[in-house]
This record gives sequence, C-alpha cells and structure tokens, in this order.
Amino acid sequence: MGFGKIKRCSADAHLSDCIRKAATINGELRPWHCQLCETDYTDRNRQGIQCSHFIGRGITMHGTQGWATRFDPSNCLSLCSACHGYVEAHPVAHINLWRDVYGSIYGADKSDAALNALLQRSECKSRAQYAKNNRLAISAHYLNESRRLDEEIEKYHQGKEADYEVYSYAQRTKTLHHP
Ligand SMILES: [Zn+2]
Repeated sequence: MGFGKIKRCSADAHLSDCIRKAATINGELRPWHCQLCETDYTDRNRQGIQCSHFIGRGITMHGTQGWATRFDPSNCLSLCSACHGYVEAHPVAHINLWRDVYGSIYGADKSDAALNALLQRSECKSRAQYAKNNRLAISAHYLNESRRLDEEIEKYHQGKEADYEVYSYAQRTKTLHHP
C-alpha cells in the first residue's frame, strides 16, 4: 500500500487463495478467517478477506523491489480489510501478529529465528531474480497448492489427518539453495 500501482499477476492470485484457505488461528485451521479479529468470511463476500504481505510487494530493498518474498507464504497473512489497514499503520501490532502465526518470541519458538530467516530471504537478490523470471511456474505451483489444500481441508473437516501448510515454490525448487 502507498507505493504506487503493483500489477497483480496470477501467481499473486493463487497464492492469495492458498493463504486465505489455509489461515490458522492459534495453530488451528480456520479457512477464510481474519487472523487478527478472527471474523469468518466463509459465507460472506470473500473480497472482504485479503492476503496481506508482511514485507510489501512494492518495497525497494537492495534493488529487489519485493520480489524475493512476494510469493513467500510465510510473508503472508489472511486479514480482513479493516485489520489489513490497521497492521499497515501499526508496525508493532503487525510484527506481533506475524510472530503469533509463524512462531517466535510470543509463540512456540523463544528466538526470532523465523522472522530473521524471512528478513534474510527478503534481501536475497538471486531469490528475487528467480521470482521475477519464473512467475508462470510459481503461479502453477500455487494453483496446485490451492487444489491440494481443498482436499486437505476436506480431510480436516472429516477429522482425518491433514497437511494444510502452504508450501513455498522455493521449498520444491532445486535451483534455490538459500535458507
Ligand atoms: Zn479482521
């Protein structure tokens, strides 16, 4: 927000679907919920629930313009538009929410290892270059993830074991060796 127009691509859209479907609150699966105010958007207009980027998509960092973490699931939160606006204007609340969801000081992990790892990834030039040049492959990855998540969420509702973590394209790409 506030960085001018960022052209949305299909990889953004499929990742957004994954993030909102696989939203968790206190570690429990809560599809289409705001991870801050916990409002359920399942039966509401789903335009009201958004994929929020912790490190903005338009940020200029070492010339990478946000590409390094643009399609990184752990850079994303599922938020209603009101809470999205709130965290954008309140950095401390944003960081604390991120820690609650992805683990660190206030979560299970007593260090800030997860946040430090994300920050490190956000500055990686080769990661940025890869994302910028492979948007179609990344889009296909998150479309597959989105379809897989539908099945996993169905299993979850049936009380079966389900894997509803959103896997990053980078975790399944052998060309990236960075943490
Ligand atoms: Zn909310």
